[in-house]
Amino acid sequence: MIRITSFAGKRVAVFGLGASGIATAKALVAGGANVVCCDDNASGLQAAADAGLATADLKEANWAVYAALILAPGVPLTHPEPHWTVRAARLAGVEVIGDLELFVRERRLQDFDVPLIAITGTNGKSTTTALVGHLLREAGRDVQVGGNIGTAMLALEPFVPGRHYVIECSSYQIDLAPSLDASVGVLLNVTPDHLDRHGTIENYAAVKAQLVLQAKHAVIGVDDNYCRAIAAKLIDAKGADAVLRISSRPEAMCDVGVEDGDIVLRRDGWESTIAGLAGIGSLRGAHNAENACAAAAALLSLPQPMKPTEIDAGLKTFPGLAHRMEQLGRVGQTLFVNDSKATNADSTEKALLSFKGNIFWILGGKPKAGGIAELVPYFDRVAKAYLIGEATEDFAATLEGKVKFDRCGTLEAATKAAARDAAASLNGASAEPVVLLSPACASFDQFRNFEVRGDAFRAQVAALPGFSAFRSGA
Ligand code: ADP
Repeated sequence: MIRITSFAGKRVAVFGLGASGIATAKALVAGGANVVCCDDNASGLQAAADAGLATADLKEANWAVYAALILAPGVPLTHPEPHWTVRAARLAGVEVIGDLELFVRERRLQDFDVPLIAITGTNGKSTTTALVGHLLREAGRDVQVGGNIGTAMLALEPFVPGRHYVIECSSYQIDLAPSLDASVGVLLNVTPDHLDRHGTIENYAAVKAQLVLQAKHAVIGVDDNYCRAIAAKLIDAKGADAVLRISSRPEAMCDVGVEDGDIVLRRDGWESTIAGLAGIGSLRGAHNAENACAAAAALLSLPQPMKPTEIDAGLKTFPGLAHRMEQLGRVGQTLFVNDSKATNADSTEKALLSFKGNIFWILGGKPKAGGIAELVPYFDRVAKAYLIGEATEDFAATLEGKVKFDRCGTLEAATKAAARDAAASLNGASAEPVVLLSPACASFDQFRNFEVRGDAFRAQVAALPGFSAFRSGA
């Protein structure tokens, strides 16, 4: 745990008692604060009480006695409207911040040499965070990985000199961290998302920009207009040396990009090869090339930069993340890929683009607006589709006349049918067969969440005769 000492001897309210809220309250108590925990849900209050934390109903509280309100990132700060605790705190002039702000204040207070790599973006945050953590670990550095992925950031191991922190940051966390000053800030991309919580795309982009504007070094993806503008503004303000622009598009104006399967660094008119990407199964597709460029650029920007040879070696052993283009293993020549995290057509587009053809595609679930119409240009890569869940008739109408498909009902039936057809396809097929679960749908009609759906797929694939696993899911 990272003890938070900046509120020692002061009264602090913590609202929102999920895993990060409880970790925050414990870190504050350990640092000597007088903490009161609050939640609108009884289960949260119970969790805090079980953890030995003081709880109270703050509806009628005198907020003036509190030094701060620490808000969980899931609780609305501004949109659709501020939560009642935010209103009450503001009326009393009490600052409203989150766990990320506590983290960076403590880091400044302790004043150790503790590199902080903070990573955000609409898509690719978890993959890039895990990849940066993996590359540092493989190079023998002391590293902690957490935040919006895995361990809550204040539950990570304490600061010691030389320890690196790789923190995935959601826009909500950044919004609650006004003095976020990362050693390296990574902004991957900005596309419309979470607008219910940020009002407009401009506001959402402005929140994301905070992470790079105050960072010592910035790494910015320049494949969308919002990020391009943020990069230009930063170069104007701080100079070109403070920013590495990344892209996976061959024609893009960038500092770290991809050329003939290699990650290259272009600076001051010269170019050098950093690492090879070709043949790394866990980093298939242009979107993962962007994530790998971002990871490499971040590591080259550290106060003690990583060597290209270390980045090259580490990339080759990256296991990937569960449920995101996760390679499960093979039956004969058929590759099985779990992309259960792809809950919309945008994400599934990335999966279909990652394979040249002979895809046996399992899709469906609870459909999203627009369905799979935007995926029609990639249908020629699909050998056959297997439909499950509520989306079946909707998707069947889009596939009709373009791709062969079966109505399978359940994931289990779809997995068996796809495995059978993939094995039979070997005669004359140009590309290796791939059974791909990339549903382009939420899972809630048949599964509790995308993880449960992906775990079910993994278990069904593991039960297929002759299956040989690459690794256990992580
Ligand atoms: P996040 O943590 O931001 O949700 P993940 O790394 O978990 O992102 O990836 C989720 C999905 O987003 C992936 O399965 C893939 O479909 C898509 N994706 C990953 N990286 C990128 C990227 N750089 N650009 C666009 N889409 C991406």
